[in-house]
Amino acid sequence: MALAGDTYSIAGCWLAYRSSARAFSAAAVAQAKITLDGPGKLNVPNNPTLVYVEGDGTGADIWASASRVIDASVEKAYGGERKIEWMEVLAGEKAFNETGEWLPQETIDAFREYLVGIKGPLTTPVGGGIRSLNVALRQILDLYTCLRPVVHFAGVPTPIKKPEDVDFVIFRENTEDIYAGIEFQSGSDEVKELLGWLQDKGVADKVRFPDTAAMGVKPVSREGTERLVKSAIQYALDNSRKSVTLVHKGNIMKFTEGGFKDWGYALAKSEYRNEIVTERESWILGNLDSNPDMSVEDNARAIEPGYNLMTSTQQEALRNEVAGVIEAIGATHGNAQWKNKVIVKDAIADIALQQILTRSKEFDVIATLNLNGDYLSDSAAALVGGIGIAPGANVNYTTGHFIAEATHGTAPKYAGLDKVNPGSVVLSGEMMLRYLGWNEAADLIIKGMNGAISTGQVTYDFHRLTEGATLLKCSEFGSAIIKHMD
Ligand code: NAP
Repeated sequence: MALAGDTYSIAGCWLAYRSSARAFSAAAVAQAKITLDGPGKLNVPNNPTLVYVEGDGTGADIWASASRVIDASVEKAYGGERKIEWMEVLAGEKAFNETGEWLPQETIDAFREYLVGIKGPLTTPVGGGIRSLNVALRQILDLYTCLRPVVHFAGVPTPIKKPEDVDFVIFRENTEDIYAGIEFQSGSDEVKELLGWLQDKGVADKVRFPDTAAMGVKPVSREGTERLVKSAIQYALDNSRKSVTLVHKGNIMKFTEGGFKDWGYALAKSEYRNEIVTERESWILGNLDSNPDMSVEDNARAIEPGYNLMTSTQQEALRNEVAGVIEAIGATHGNAQWKNKVIVKDAIADIALQQILTRSKEFDVIATLNLNGDYLSDSAAALVGGIGIAPGANVNYTTGHFIAEATHGTAPKYAGLDKVNPGSVVLSGEMMLRYLGWNEAADLIIKGMNGAISTGQVTYDFHRLTEGATLLKCSEFGSAIIKHMD
């Protein structure tokens, strides 16, 4: 296999467990820097410089173990023809102690220039100007997707009965929503001004306790939604996923969360018409598949059981929808052709939080807003072993910037004890390798992780929940993963 510089589309690479035979570009890349060959096209040399932040607290133990695993996977997969050149940059407590700054400009510049990197957990500065270093990096580099894969490794303790059904990927919007940080304190002049403005609009009485209310602003835009949903659909297509679920609270917040849903569907239809079918369209076409003579009205009645209770205007709108779908995509999607398309559907956030537990199989790729995604990601992580093992990455699929990261914190009480689970950073490294297109190395990490855990070789967090398991240190768990790569 030729291993020269590898040019390919970067949208959605994680969990493509099957190795793919891709075409390698002819021109060998001499330099070690990853570059872009146009929007979304990474050019990866055989010895790329990747940026890393070791992390605070348990970060040093975890990085020592995880980086050994990542390097071993590359070595075993490519026999020395590929190798990561690690470049350490500082952030968090280590940066503050050495430079007086929590997030030095050099660190931001390095992530910007070298495109791809990985970071351990960072101490959140208390009382400093920066709310969170993670949020700051996401905003500065416009890393609009927080990618959180959720899949179960056999043997990992779990609170659910059928963990093998859990295998989905969450695309959480990372730059908008109430996380934009536009909030005003109770009693502040800004709140008073806002109340005055709301008075002018005739809605001030909706603020139940105006004298003491704090207020926040929730921006959700069409562009922000479109780029996130596009990444999710592209990922689903690239990785042979069956569905994309838009998770929202549009029933309550019609313009923000409802906008996310509507813009998401619109983007799906305008950009991916031939590759997708919406769930509602699939019902209409499915009804016709079962009964080709079904009238438009009967079809409308079948998809909306409350049809007979609707006003005539509502009934007409529904009939128009049915007729419109048949006319627009009957030829391309009818006769069961829709079954080969990616289904785009939506779910209300509270129900989705329940159904990831009770009907895990129905979720495949999830696209959601910032706050919903925050809750959903950690709740989902609990299904498959918790934050000690859940990986994540923040991505901009256009500029190519990608920062894989631990999803847990610094767990300071365990710092220096060589005790905690390095799994979150190991699997974040696996995501990073897959993002580079180094699927063979990524596959070895999955193999090694499966091998270690399924033979009961685990760190304290799994050990305390697993009868008969062998307790390993953080470093020993790394060695066990490497051993099981063979
Ligand atoms: P935490 O560091 O995530 O630790 C909470 C608990 O999670 C630990 O006590 C431990 O549970 C478990 N845990 C964490 N990492 C683990 C690992 N690698 N393996 C196994 N179990 C692990 O949360 P925190 O104590 O609330 O926060 C500590 C600091 O981290 C704060 O400064 C916070 O701001 C920061 N933080 C950073 C990030 C980030 O950089 N991504 C994220 C969250 C928090 P047991 O006690 O049950 O063993």
